[in-house]
Amino acid sequence: MQVRNTKQKKHIISILKKSNRPLSINEIYNKIIYELPRIAKSTIYRNIDLLLEQNLIEKYYFNDNEIFYLYKERDSDHTHFIICDDCKKIYNLPSCPLREIENSIKAEGFIIKNHQIQITGICKSCALKI
Ligand SMILES: [Zn+2]
Ligand SMILES: [Zn+2]
Repeated sequence: MQVRNTKQKKHIISILKKSNRPLSINEIYNKIIYELPRIAKSTIYRNIDLLLEQNLIEKYYFNDNEIFYLYKERDSDHTHFIICDDCKKIYNLPSCPLREIENSIKAEGFIIKNHQIQITGICKSCALKI
């Protein structure tokens, strides 16, 4: 497959690189329209698919099945995130708790491609508002 390095794709990569948390398509769109006011959301979707194919970004599923994307710094390290149901603020898990479990599954000969951790709930400041 020919790798096209379009202007749109470069902008999307730079937006994702600058962010320390995963971004949804809408969030990417709201940032990119300052630089490329005529960009269509379908173009963002298409470029995101390319970046996923090239393994440059990672997909995260949060509540309501909204999908977020994070730029991959290295293959080996990854972060898990929790999103507040209410204010949608995103928090990092301090570390991946699945490494040991993965290692024992790998020892059984299972090839793990990816894993996800989903924790739902509301953050401290939203909990105080109730
Ligand atoms: Zn909150
Ligand atoms: Zn993990």
